[in-house]
Amino acid sequence: MPIFSKYALMRGADSFLQSLRPFSLSNCLASASAPRPALTQFRDILNNQITGIKDAGTYKMERVITSSQSTEITVEGTQKRILNFCANNYLGLANNPEVVSYSKELLDKYGAGLSSVRFICGTQSIHKELEKKISQFHGREDAILYASCFDANAGIFEAILTPDDAVFSDELNHASIIDGIRLCKAQKQRYKHRDMSDLEKQLQSSTARLKLIVTDGVFSMDGNIAPLPKIVDLAAKYDALVFIDECHATGFFGATGRGTEEYYNMLGRVDIINSTLGKALGGAAGGYTTGPKELIRLLRQKSRPYLFSNSLPPPVVATGIKVMDMLMHSDQLSQRVQSNTKRFRDAMTKAGFVIGGENHPICPVMLGDARLASIFADQMLSRGIYVIGFSYPVVPKGKARIRVQISAAHTTDDVDHAVAAFVDVGKSLKVIK
Ligand code: PLP
Repeated sequence: MPIFSKYALMRGADSFLQSLRPFSLSNCLASASAPRPALTQFRDILNNQITGIKDAGTYKMERVITSSQSTEITVEGTQKRILNFCANNYLGLANNPEVVSYSKELLDKYGAGLSSVRFICGTQSIHKELEKKISQFHGREDAILYASCFDANAGIFEAILTPDDAVFSDELNHASIIDGIRLCKAQKQRYKHRDMSDLEKQLQSSTARLKLIVTDGVFSMDGNIAPLPKIVDLAAKYDALVFIDECHATGFFGATGRGTEEYYNMLGRVDIINSTLGKALGGAAGGYTTGPKELIRLLRQKSRPYLFSNSLPPPVVATGIKVMDMLMHSDQLSQRVQSNTKRFRDAMTKAGFVIGGENHPICPVMLGDARLASIFADQMLSRGIYVIGFSYPVVPKGKARIRVQISAAHTTDDVDHAVAAFVDVGKSLKVIK
């Protein structure tokens, strides 16, 4: 008896014939989408939350860019090119031809990715090369790469702190720091935003074995800077360590782009730096920790986002290597973003706007009212300037603003054009006279 008819007799002819039909995804999906009470309830719960977010006016829409990231972009639904003033592309390197070309070269040479975590078979010579360049750039002993700075922040505190230790964190630190601290078992202390007397009180009363002060170098909503000299003094007085997140500083802040330490002329005084490759440093992806070699050695053994997540892909590593080379060779780009920032801040202040923050390319144009910020941003877009309004809960109630971000790639004409549009809209909405 032929094998198929034996099978047909055993299982029934119908099911046998069904097994010969080609696979049909739509048939599978049709049976999967039959109503199930748990799924219906799940959808209802999610939809309620979504409606709540919409009712609160905080639902985020994503504009779709149809060009590369740059100072001039095209956006779906609009015809003309738009001047972009809301990317973290501080050095304008996201589509820099040298960076892109090196990325393609290493894509050809090393492939698309590693299909592995670092400690199994995901470490290439280029990962080691980039880690070396990062530590050289910051003048530190060693560095470790992560898929993002979110991961670097999520992975560090749990790996190094125990219940005998204490962490002192600025209340406005980035979400990834807050999440990272949640994961660790250390004693958790939160000090008022940039309030050094509050920090001192908390340090004074701590009997922890290790004390770690944790702060953003630059706070991204306000463009204001951590009071690092005072933090370092307090750390010396109370025998604490200092960690800073330099995502909004590395590569462009301080005279040669070494970040907040350099801005305050105190290079090398911070113990641990976490930062990103996803903003000024080419804008692709990736984050890192740099600091004492024992710390980096331990993170390679214990840090969970490093141990349990895929290795950084070669084209992304390439962008980091190329950008590090460029920055160690010249500080022209960081000088340029600084002069553009001064031009924008001076002109806007002279026009009567209130600009938050200090000397930083994050320039929050303070408007107060959430609706006004949203209308203002829409009117700027209709004048060809892409900026975003931020309101509660991203910033405190009554402190809505438009966050402008300046890039080294903006020309002085671009900056002047943005100021002119702000003045135009500002007058028509009666924000300035
Ligand atoms: N830390 C700060 C202060 C940030 O602004 C960001 C990004 O928004 C991150 C960490 C996370 O960086 P990444 O995009 O590399 O995950």
